[in-house]
Amino acid sequence: MNAPQRHNSFRLESYWMPFTANRQFKASPRLLTRAEGMYYTSDDNRQILDGTAGLWCVNAGHGRSEIADAVGRQLSTMDYAPSFQMGHPIAFEFAERLAEIAPGGPSAGLDRVFFTGSGSESVDTALKMAIAYQRAIGQGTRTRFIGRERGYHGVGFGGISVGGILNNRRVFPQLPGTDHLRHTHDPARNAFVKGQPEHGAELADDLERLVALHGAETIAAVIVEPVAGSTGVLIPPKGYLERLRAICDRHGILLIFDEVITGFGRLGAPFAVDFFGVVPDLVTTAKGLTNGAIPMGAVFASRKVHDALMQGPESQIELFHGYTYSGHPAACAAGLATLSIYREEGLLTRASEIETYWHNAVHSLKGLPNVTDIRTIGLIAGIELDSRAGAPGSRAYDAFVDCFERGLLIRVTGDIIALSPPLIIETSQIDAIVETLADALNQVA
Ligand code: PMP
Repeated sequence: MNAPQRHNSFRLESYWMPFTANRQFKASPRLLTRAEGMYYTSDDNRQILDGTAGLWCVNAGHGRSEIADAVGRQLSTMDYAPSFQMGHPIAFEFAERLAEIAPGGPSAGLDRVFFTGSGSESVDTALKMAIAYQRAIGQGTRTRFIGRERGYHGVGFGGISVGGILNNRRVFPQLPGTDHLRHTHDPARNAFVKGQPEHGAELADDLERLVALHGAETIAAVIVEPVAGSTGVLIPPKGYLERLRAICDRHGILLIFDEVITGFGRLGAPFAVDFFGVVPDLVTTAKGLTNGAIPMGAVFASRKVHDALMQGPESQIELFHGYTYSGHPAACAAGLATLSIYREEGLLTRASEIETYWHNAVHSLKGLPNVTDIRTIGLIAGIELDSRAGAPGSRAYDAFVDCFERGLLIRVTGDIIALSPPLIIETSQIDAIVETLADALNQVA
């Protein structure tokens, strides 16, 4: 590998990078070395505007000393405690603070919190909870999961099975019996939409078709991202999530919202549950839970699910599941400090205040070369490009590299550019994102 030697202290070979074309990257690496507020610093000392909140996670902006201090204090007080059959106060405290802002508010009852180490673990946890719940209520034949095409639910075997991304699935075996709804992306009917598209609620009826095909008594749960992020920002049509909820209710199927991206203010409400007003039975989170500072995830379970699993004999463990790092003290400290910042700075609703500016700024890119669709909701945007013949994904990738050279971090998936800046963004920084993107799109035309 002919990696340029930009560093004296390390070489690039040893680290096998995730979700990255390692050989391509190591031939011309992009390294970030510092982060503060809305900006990264690259290893060649350039300021890089963060258009993606890291990976949809640094909602309160970078370098928050409150989080660093809280983590440092916790590590020097107690670094780790066993998570099985032992507890520590900060995990209970963090769960209680989360329950206070639980998705859907008090009436939704989604206020029982299970800690994990990541989004993928949250997804596996929720899937297992769904199976265990069905069994606990005498519905043990319900072992099947329904996901959605173009869904992303992390990389565990559960997550790739219910997920709908070919590349994540093709070489790996999957959970038996999973099936998928169609995705809701329909550019022929819903192009250049701000907010929820008008057309497509009837796609939820796919679930009725799958019930007719498999039998409701075999289906444990349906899992969807309220807004699919990683596959290019697919926003649910008006009425779609409501319809999915109604069909689940009709057939005794649990509904899981994967809010790993949409949780903690991304849409302008604390959770997508609040934003769309549709209440699932389980909600998976991670990312913004700790502002990305320490790896952690959490599942919000409804009392219905939780209580059903608490009813066995006391000698029996209610859910045979958990992680060494469930409720890790340092992660809980990061999470508590993060929630304080969100509350004090009003960040869980900030996106709703700046959303109109965001919509208009991003949609001003309409008409630039190769832009075939733009979709925006909360502080998220997807910009879809016409693919180059024979080289799908190459145009957006070139735009990504060009943006980085110009000092902007974006994310690309196929030929779709995804934006999700920290929720502290100012209008001048929105302008900078859009201007840089326009230059890049002209460049790669
Ligand atoms: N679910 C969704 C909706 C996600 O966006 C992601 C990560 N992008 C995950 C699950 C997986 O999270 P992690 O990478 O922390 O395992």
